[in-house]
Amino acid sequence: MRHVSPAMSDATTPAPAATAPVSMDNLVALAKRRGFIFQSSEIYGGFNGFFDYGPLGAELKKNIRDCWWADMVQRRDDVVGIETSIIMHPKVWEASGHVAGFSDPLVDCKVSKQRYRADQLFFSPVVVTAADGVAQTVGYVSALESENTAGELQTAAESFKRKKAIQGTLCPVVAKDLTEAREDEIALIPSPATGEPGSLTAPRAFNMMFQTNVGAMTDGSSVAYLRPETAQGMFVDFKNVVDTGRVKLPFGIAQIGKSFRNEITPRNFIFRSREFEQMEMEYFIHEDADWSKVHEEWIAWCEAWLKSIGLPDSHLSRYAHPKEKLAFYSRGTVDIMFKYPFGVQELWGIAARGSYDLTQHANASGKPQEVFDEATKKKFVPHVIEPAVGVDRIFLAVLCAGYAEEAVTDEKGNTETRTVLRLSPRIAPVKVAVLPLLKNKEVLVARAQALYKKLQRRYAVFYDETAAIGRRYRRQDEIGTPWCVTIDFDTIEKPGDTFTLRDRDTMQQRRVTEAELFALLEEQVY
Ligand code: ATP
Repeated sequence: MRHVSPAMSDATTPAPAATAPVSMDNLVALAKRRGFIFQSSEIYGGFNGFFDYGPLGAELKKNIRDCWWADMVQRRDDVVGIETSIIMHPKVWEASGHVAGFSDPLVDCKVSKQRYRADQLFFSPVVVTAADGVAQTVGYVSALESENTAGELQTAAESFKRKKAIQGTLCPVVAKDLTEAREDEIALIPSPATGEPGSLTAPRAFNMMFQTNVGAMTDGSSVAYLRPETAQGMFVDFKNVVDTGRVKLPFGIAQIGKSFRNEITPRNFIFRSREFEQMEMEYFIHEDADWSKVHEEWIAWCEAWLKSIGLPDSHLSRYAHPKEKLAFYSRGTVDIMFKYPFGVQELWGIAARGSYDLTQHANASGKPQEVFDEATKKKFVPHVIEPAVGVDRIFLAVLCAGYAEEAVTDEKGNTETRTVLRLSPRIAPVKVAVLPLLKNKEVLVARAQALYKKLQRRYAVFYDETAAIGRRYRRQDEIGTPWCVTIDFDTIEKPGDTFTLRDRDTMQQRRVTEAELFALLEEQVY
């Protein structure tokens, strides 16, 4: 009988550090191929801005939610969790300001019928300076999402100069977005769809809330909205939680749930979609509390939490919203940004919202939203710090940070590319794959099945007896399984009942007992 050692079948080169930059195309292909994410209603051609999560995706998403809930709610004494309805009384959205103001600036291209968000459509005047020092605008260029590169500006300048038969050197100007364009400029800015000027409209406000009708009537009186954020549920239930719970300021109310926004330009896969999931927490503090200290503490908490689920420091940064761009009630907002393959973008917003929301609801409902201060014997409306993050954006971030294609060499010197998803064991959809070395050896299969069943009581595990062991390892690498255990002949024949434990990232193998395997999982999966 020839015993095949699993160690011989796997690549022997440790995972190299340098890998090619992640391409969104490869990531989207992997997500589809391995059942993480599908287009919604794909058999009908898909539905723009909506996605389905497949078997592995649903598992990964649930793990992200569960980790957040455990750390934010269950492991803290000062935060409680709730779950509120998606459709709320329409007056909620009037009081919160969403009916009047939850809009994005929309721009139409009259020729192509394409729509753009004006704050995501950038333009620059192309200015050339002649030898006598006189500067003149020779044309305009535009770009979606981020401003034109220096090379694009130079090419445009050369083209405008040729057409207009003028000399001069390109003069640097600051790019703006279309919300800042003058009317005469809008007429000269080329549409990204046609490349020609003259077809873009001036920006106008487009409310992003989805409307529906509740009840049998479909007139104005039955209009309701799908919530565009979960936060209002926490404000509207504030008094209920205070009156029934064990809470005392400062404390937080957290919720995870679906939100809906009729985004003008859903894009970048699941980064911006029309139906998405949020994890939000409203942290209520005394009106005289040092809000900036609490704000900073929550920003640091959110950063640490992202790292705890495997996002690397190198991909995270902070963006403080400039004071002049904040809503009038807002004291300060800091976004934690993530370096996605399509640019550095908002992942988690942490806003200091003062007492705005509770005050609005108190005024609109006629029900005071105050708490009593034992020290001063006075009532007051608490202030709030709000960390708000999207589950789908975290999902995309962990895929982007974890995805790698790397060259590995086997013991025969053959080099191949392995695709690996370096997901933290906390969130990996499958924690361990159990692999009997050979499927036609009953002793191996029986021992593997026994281990599989035992692991399955506590963890998401996968049993695979098909294909060569090396191929089985690769399949698990691609879906981010941190460990594979192989039941081989040493398990059966040698004392100690040990298995080969193979690590996804290092590809190193060592022998462990069942107790050691459970101890490892207990430590790493929390
Ligand atoms: P953006 O500026 O990217 O539109 P926002 O500032 O409007 O986002 P918030 O209202 O602060 O976002 O929502 C809180 C969080 O919800 C965001 O940080 C993001 O993680 C998530 N989120 C918001 N809109 C979407 C969307 N359309 N698709 C997926 N996630 C979203």
